[in-house]
Amino acid sequence: MTARLDAVLGNARVPASLVADAQRFGGRRDRDCFAGNLVVRGGSVAGMSQDGPVDTDLGGRLVTTPFVEPHCHLDKCFTIERLDFAGGSLLDAITAQSADKANWTYGDLRGRAERGIREMVAAGTRMVRTHVDWEVDMRDPDRLPLAWRVIGDLAEEWRGRITIQRAALLPIASMADAGYSQAVGRVIAQSGGALGAFVFDQPERAAGIHNMFSVAARHGLALDFHVDEGLSPELDGLELIAREAARTAHAEPVLCGHACNLAVIEQDVRKQRIELTARAGLSVVALPSSNLYLQDRDRTIPRERGLTAVSELLAAGVNVAFGTDNVQDAFCPVGIHDPKRTLAMGVLAAHLPPPLGDRLPLVMQNAAKALGQPLAPVDRSPADALLIWETGDVAELVSGGTYARCRSLHDAMPSH
Ligand SMILES: [Zn+2]
Repeated sequence: MTARLDAVLGNARVPASLVADAQRFGGRRDRDCFAGNLVVRGGSVAGMSQDGPVDTDLGGRLVTTPFVEPHCHLDKCFTIERLDFAGGSLLDAITAQSADKANWTYGDLRGRAERGIREMVAAGTRMVRTHVDWEVDMRDPDRLPLAWRVIGDLAEEWRGRITIQRAALLPIASMADAGYSQAVGRVIAQSGGALGAFVFDQPERAAGIHNMFSVAARHGLALDFHVDEGLSPELDGLELIAREAARTAHAEPVLCGHACNLAVIEQDVRKQRIELTARAGLSVVALPSSNLYLQDRDRTIPRERGLTAVSELLAAGVNVAFGTDNVQDAFCPVGIHDPKRTLAMGVLAAHLPPPLGDRLPLVMQNAAKALGQPLAPVDRSPADALLIWETGDVAELVSGGTYARCRSLHDAMPSH
């Protein structure tokens, strides 16, 4: 049975990378897009037609799935103007940002976090995971950080406009304590969120990672790591996580952010680590803005980009996405919560080739997969989950140009 025809939206363009079944879609291939009349049946996109009557003319505008932000910090954003900080390395930024926590009242956190959410929604983002710094109190593991509650309240208020996931950001040394890690895992499972940690060169890192997988398996939690955010070949967190994920066959998604040193370690080690990452089913989220700003700080002039081995990870079949990370705070003094601008920066920093339409999944379907919430391609999507842009040009969209503005495709339907 064929579903009822809702509308034929003439003269649309859909990036081919956002279509699952190109054979059946019916669009005319035009570089990185399909062009034609978008047919909507039973509330969903059924494909494209090339002729016949249309209900409205979209004027060659792009129709896409929404953006997904897989990694940001809504508790820290928009603090740079009040920090006493002259810049520096990752560890300098951590110290400066910690001092700002004295200002973190409910109202302060709420105002800044909501500003970030507004930016995301205006940019066409419909799903986000934000990290939230976890205040470790070994004697009281049940206590939720204020920022966790604030962002939980905002997630409720913004439900229907954007899905907001929280990931707890804990020091990996605290997770090496089996009792504490179990208690925190239980609290996070009760309030909803992912279990995450900062893994660098801490001597407790292997024990901490082991406990996190054990806790996550018990409570069905997704895992999210800040891992190897440095260029030393000694950093081995990604390898430890991949081995643990493969050993335990963890059922929930495991996201590894940063993995900076992967790009600069010796080729044989890199190849082996990338293969391990692929086999373990990890997602790797590259964070171009904070990596460009904070890595390679040991010399007076930066030479290395700090970004993980994006092209080689993609070639090995790893699920790779780009995240915005820090915005106007100690870790990155500039920026905006806009995944398409993050993609533009990633294209530059990782030397990704055109056409740009082929790169959109890095901030759409791949990012959603990393969060364990699949995002349907255009040809399997309800029409009201899609966006229509003022531009028909993917390069302008990704660059955030004058016409990179969107509205719901629902608003372009003739019955609306
Ligand atoms: Zn981060």
